[in-house]
Amino acid sequence: MAERYDVVVIGGGPAGYTAAIRSAQLGFKTACVDDWRTASGEPALGGTCLNAGCIPSKALLESSEFYAQARDHGPGRGLSFTQLSLDLAPMMAHKDKVVSELTRGIATLFKANGVTWIPGRGKLLPKNQVEITGATATQVEAEHVILASGSTPVNFKNAPFDGQRIVDSQGALEFKEVPRRLGVIGAGIIGLELGSVWRRLGAEVVLLEAQEGFLPVADEQVAREARKQFTAQGLDIRLGARVLESRVENETVVMRYQDENGEHEKSVDNLIVAVGRRPNTDGLFAAETGLLLDEWGFVHVDEHCRTNLPGVHAVGDVVRGPMLAHKGMEEGAMVAERLAGHASSVDYGIVPSVIYTQPEIAWVGKTEQALKQAGESYRAGVFPFAANGRAKAMGEASGFIKILADARTDRVRGVHLIGPHCSEIVASAVLAMSFGASSEDIMHTMFAHPTLSEALHEASLAVAGHAIHMAQPKRAKS
Ligand code: NAD
Repeated sequence: MAERYDVVVIGGGPAGYTAAIRSAQLGFKTACVDDWRTASGEPALGGTCLNAGCIPSKALLESSEFYAQARDHGPGRGLSFTQLSLDLAPMMAHKDKVVSELTRGIATLFKANGVTWIPGRGKLLPKNQVEITGATATQVEAEHVILASGSTPVNFKNAPFDGQRIVDSQGALEFKEVPRRLGVIGAGIIGLELGSVWRRLGAEVVLLEAQEGFLPVADEQVAREARKQFTAQGLDIRLGARVLESRVENETVVMRYQDENGEHEKSVDNLIVAVGRRPNTDGLFAAETGLLLDEWGFVHVDEHCRTNLPGVHAVGDVVRGPMLAHKGMEEGAMVAERLAGHASSVDYGIVPSVIYTQPEIAWVGKTEQALKQAGESYRAGVFPFAANGRAKAMGEASGFIKILADARTDRVRGVHLIGPHCSEIVASAVLAMSFGASSEDIMHTMFAHPTLSEALHEASLAVAGHAIHMAQPKRAKS
């Protein structure tokens, strides 16, 4: 007899483990099936985010930033070193330690909440049966199944991964030495983050991006500033560059690409391919279940993450929407709560986005170009970090915060940030928007001084035309 659960979650990444923990908190008998294995073959929870994505990449971003700060800004602040050297092994060991502590932390949370962790590969069968293959094959059944199988890097046919010189985002976190010349295909979020890490550690980095425009997902003013700053840091970003072929010759990867000036070749020591991710649906369900996929291959769901099958939900990267851990986590919690009869929902209009480069880029809500395109009238307030005391003291005074507010109601429609610690500051903007705040509400909120967040306050004052620490054109008295 298959063991019966109230809830079985397939996938133990952020979306899946959140769904499992929240289900157990709500009193459901819950199991989570996950097939992730570490390099040494141990099962591990946390999925791509903890094991091979967000967390290890942030560990390297922080370490490389620490090194670059010491190298580039130490002497100007009176710190001198007889020799500042870089040893990649301890940097990688720190990253691995952070990852293993966090993944073990999820296992502890499972235990504390009474979630049964079943290492193995789960497959949805008809009637909410789940087949699990791994060390031992077994089968469980559930009242509710939540699919949270995540996503995988797209393998680009003109630069197929070889796991050695041509790698995906995971391989790019495991180089044994700093490449002298690094190529990156795709100047999207992953390409920019990983390109920045290795640039800071000393690699010459060239990014080949197929699109003509730079970072079209971001607000155009932010994208322009970002490009200027990345170029100044030495990232060689080539737009409109379509890669035709990549071949490994004598320990070198030769990329052949085409742009408006014709065909070119560029040789690098290592190549990271970051041209997007695709949902993990291969082998996830038996055809007889009749589970529907959408036209892009994602599991088809409604706004509450219900699939077409009764008792089956899907959350995270395997469904529509941005492939972001926090979006998946909110979906996981929402589904568990709805199963318990709560009226939870996810507000897809205020999902924050962050690019963890230096400076950090973050936003929430509509971009200025989207408002223009929709013919909506708005007022913009922009405040530069150059006029923020804390940013000056940190020596990181580039970038700005922009608030876009509805011209009639003053309700905040979008907030766009580029500058120091913007990944943290954006949370205040998300909070404001989730309460339906106007720019005047932010204006009348007190911010601690001296903090970087004051730039958000000043941007709201700028919407009304009276920022304090920046000259604005005088308006008639009202
Ligand atoms: P992406 O969609 O952000 O960027 C891929 C880029 O590759 C695009 O700019 C695209 O135009 C370009 N591209 C596609 N085909 C190409 C080709 N043949 N030649 C050259 N360029 C090409 O995808 P990603 O950077 O791989 O990230 C995947 C997903 O993971 C995204 O949804 C992203 O949001 C998510 N992610 C988020 C974070 C974060 O929140 N900080 C970090 C990592 C990944």
